[in-house]
Amino acid sequence: MTAPSPRVAIVGAGPSGLYAAGSLLKGSDQVRIDILDCLPTPYGLLRYGVAPDHTSMQGIQRVLAEPFESDRVRFFGMVELGSDITADELREGYDAVVYAAGASEDRRLDVRGEHLPGSRSAREFVAWYCGHPDAEAQSLAGVDTAITFGVGNVAVDVARILLADPDHLATTDMPPPVLDELGAHRVADVWVVGRRGPEHATFTTTELRELLALDGVQPVLHDPVPDDPVDADRRVRQNLAALREAADRVVEEPRARLHLAFWRRPVELVGASGVRAVVLERTALDEAGRVVGTGEREVVGAQLVLRAIGYRGKPLPGVPFDPEAGVVPNTDGRVVDAAGPRPGEYVVGWIKRGPLGVIGTNKSDAAATVRNLLADLADLPAPTGPDAGALLADRGRPASTFADWERIDAEEQAAGQRFGRPRVKVATWHALFDLVRHGRPGGPLEREAE
Ligand code: NAP
Repeated sequence: MTAPSPRVAIVGAGPSGLYAAGSLLKGSDQVRIDILDCLPTPYGLLRYGVAPDHTSMQGIQRVLAEPFESDRVRFFGMVELGSDITADELREGYDAVVYAAGASEDRRLDVRGEHLPGSRSAREFVAWYCGHPDAEAQSLAGVDTAITFGVGNVAVDVARILLADPDHLATTDMPPPVLDELGAHRVADVWVVGRRGPEHATFTTTELRELLALDGVQPVLHDPVPDDPVDADRRVRQNLAALREAADRVVEEPRARLHLAFWRRPVELVGASGVRAVVLERTALDEAGRVVGTGEREVVGAQLVLRAIGYRGKPLPGVPFDPEAGVVPNTDGRVVDAAGPRPGEYVVGWIKRGPLGVIGTNKSDAAATVRNLLADLADLPAPTGPDAGALLADRGRPASTFADWERIDAEEQAAGQRFGRPRVKVATWHALFDLVRHGRPGGPLEREAE
């Protein structure tokens, strides 16, 4: 009798989960893979994090979709770990479980006034313009000045979207209500504020140059650009060169201004019913290299504050979590807890290593975890329980399938064709449910949509 094919569950259908699936298929011609996601749409941060005007990135979707061409891979959408299926059930139903849940929380500034209306995370703002069905609609009414804190690529993305020519955005896949809001706003000043110097900023040069070169936008540098530090790497030297060029750039009759201000941190957001101003304190590094305030303050009027100071992983029910680092504790992708290794549990992507790196970074990261998983596989105990398909069917809780996603995809592309765009994102749960329940009338999904 031949041994049954090993079963692997992957929790999360974003880039890291799908790269892991690709590596598993390459590494074993036996393994069967079930990929679970709380959304009916795969691709995670590629779909809901990459800025819609970065259309060249969307080509990665074809690569990420490849595992779904295999009959050894199934997609279970709209399945929430913890409520629809538990981590214990996955551990019992599979030889191995790979957590690929990303980093869906954001870090906080911890300053007074942070909770005022008008102060929010860049993550929420990004989710909105990317058409995430859980995103809250964002209003830019009454905003003439916006400030982003943090000088990474997320800050650059949100600043660029706020400053972009609406006609350019209208060629992207943004949902129509988002385009309406971004086409009608009166934001004329966008500040990007870093608590350290430009030589410490984490943005990449291509992204920085794109921001600095926006049509009709005058860059305003609030600090002299320093000479290249002796130990500066290529990216830092190129960033500083881009900033020096921008300092000399004069835009005739600008429609908006991009303010770049370094060595400043927020100490208070001021306002009664909403943010009206931000108090900034000048900063310096102490002897230990820590950011400290100098006591020198300035006030900048602003009605929108976006903190782009990094994402954070969220605990997954029934899975070990390191609250300090915001990741699932692991050794080279093998999950560990206080008692030691947890055989059969693995982790990939941002929930493994923290929210750093571009989409492509997940490929080698997932491959490294999968190498360990495949090396362990023969020694892992065989499953003792039903797989996700059997469990969910038993509960009368059918998941959405890859075919359901293909229907959503086709609908988005057809809508795009009507408007001369690559696609138009379906951005509400209601519309997604409608497309998913097609062909499955009267199921629990229909009840949930009501
Ligand atoms: P990031 O690159 O880690 O940048 C976070 C920024 O927030 C840093 O400037 C950091 O400054 C600052 N910060 C942290 N805590 C702060 C505080 N309490 N007060 C003020 N500033 C604070 O993170 P990200 O921008 O969220 O990007 C996450 C990852 O996604 C990155 O690897 C990024 O490259 C990638 N990404 C790539 C693209 C793209 O390729 N186009 C687009 C978006 C995101 P310190 O350095 O001083 O801590």
